[in-house]
Amino acid sequence: CGIVGYIGKRDVAPLLLEGLQRLEYRGYDSAGVAIHSSGKNGGLKTVKAAGRVRDLEERIPARFAGSGGIAHTRWATHGAPTDDNAHPHLDGAGEVAVVHNGIIDNSAELRAKLSADGIALASETDTEVLAHLIARAQADTLEEKVREALRYVEGTYGIAVLHAAFPDRIVVARNGSPVVLGIGEKEMFVASDVAALVSHTRQVITLDDGEMATLKADDYRTYTTDGSRTAAAPTTVEWEA
Ligand code: GLU
Repeated sequence: CGIVGYIGKRDVAPLLLEGLQRLEYRGYDSAGVAIHSSGKNGGLKTVKAAGRVRDLEERIPARFAGSGGIAHTRWATHGAPTDDNAHPHLDGAGEVAVVHNGIIDNSAELRAKLSADGIALASETDTEVLAHLIARAQADTLEEKVREALRYVEGTYGIAVLHAAFPDRIVVARNGSPVVLGIGEKEMFVASDVAALVSHTRQVITLDDGEMATLKADDYRTYTTDGSRTAAAPTTVEWEA
């Protein structure tokens, strides 16, 4: 239903929660967040909760610092609104985190294939397959791993992906569900709706279907799902505060 992501110098959790609150008007049944932890051991940290953004906020531990992260409000299509079914979804090793808007049409088939390969599924969602497919991809870069995973998938998606081995970036992709990039000064935002980013930047890029993007704190690039660069210049959104 709603996606928010941030990479930059500021403490990420409060920014993501604020973004989710700005998307509340769309309605949702659960919420969650994953960050690249700046704690001692690094890695990804995830918190999820059925219910309101306030319920999620209450579960966020005191130490939850990070400079990149993704968050989601869910409107359940596959699997009841529970903590486990809330996004972000992870692979078994907790290396990959995915938030997703839309519906993966062939998820039943993909879930069966993953299970047959010995992968334990942690949720009932269509979304979870994406995390496992990205984690299993053979490619070297995160961009190529996501691209490889998306080749197996039929359906609609706006996704944002974190990978523990690539803490400097967020990779996003769009097919049928809106994804908007927000270009800041040494910080980048992504959201499913400009409402979640206009309080931080008015410089936005709306992805097209079949388009992906890599966001780093001081850089971004857009390209198609088959890898060719696309020329995306930010436009300024008018917004009545
Ligand atoms: N189909 C996904 C789910 O049920 C995403 C739903 C949404 O867009 O919030 O978890």
